[in-house]
Amino acid sequence: MNPIYIDQNEILKRYKPIDAHTHKGIQGHALIIAGSYGKIGAAVLAVKGCLRTGCGLVTAFVPKCGYQIVQIAIPEAMVLTDVEKKHISAIVFDIKPQAIGIGPGIGQEEPTQKALHEFLIANNIPLVVDADALNILSKNRSWLTLLPSKTILTPHPKELERLIGEWDSEEEKFQKTIDFSLHYDVIVVMKGAPTYIIDAETVYRNSTGNAALATAGSGDVLTGIITSLLAQSYEPIDAAILGVYLHGLTADIALPETGHQAFIASDIISNIGKAYL
Ligand code: AMP
Ligand code: MG
Repeated sequence: MNPIYIDQNEILKRYKPIDAHTHKGIQGHALIIAGSYGKIGAAVLAVKGCLRTGCGLVTAFVPKCGYQIVQIAIPEAMVLTDVEKKHISAIVFDIKPQAIGIGPGIGQEEPTQKALHEFLIANNIPLVVDADALNILSKNRSWLTLLPSKTILTPHPKELERLIGEWDSEEEKFQKTIDFSLHYDVIVVMKGAPTYIIDAETVYRNSTGNAALATAGSGDVLTGIITSLLAQSYEPIDAAILGVYLHGLTADIALPETGHQAFIASDIISNIGKAYL
């Protein structure tokens, strides 16, 4: 394994500045499917991450209990709701997003598992899968074959272990993740310190980020950022690489102002603009 180091040079090769003549209709429409009773904040964080990284339109799909919360927290977002009050049970939407992010805060209720299965059967839109959507797939492994080609999976170490099984060494962890990526034709963002991105046999090592990111909701923001870039027509591998880099760089920029202990996921959202400067 010889990882490609993702530094500013690598990023500038992939980054596409926003065209002065663009409009929101061509900046991409992203759909974020997230949240359950008590975890609507995960949806809010992912949607905000998405809006703050150049996506033209963002729709949230949440259980009914999330409707007012998302509308009030994020006036810029559109909101669709499930028929169920507390959790997602049937993912039905009448929009045509260019990318979908699914998983933050959705929980693992039976109806949510079924909804994910039906969604995967029906959907072929570029996809980011995170959090409990990953855990549901770990329990229902045959569904992994339903993922669109080059779906981006964003597991933290525990979620990765559920997906690929335990490992005895770092080398084994990477080999198992590479095998998984090849077998299912997906991109795996191995979140950690540092984060690695695996696309078949190619391994990328991110250079940004710090321990302040070890805080609730940090991964939900990342899901929103990567989904946003995917909706803006970045190739999946570039969306994953750029998203991880931006997320980490934002934390590096914000840290001197907030300090480690006081840093919260919302600080990523409020500082992300500085990472573009
Ligand atoms: P999650 O566990 O889903 O909330 O995701 C946590 C996010 O924070 C991932 O993007 C991790 O890579 C990042 N993160 C967590 N801990 C650290 C750390 N000690 N150093 C750098 N990044 C971290
Ligand atoms: Mg997470």
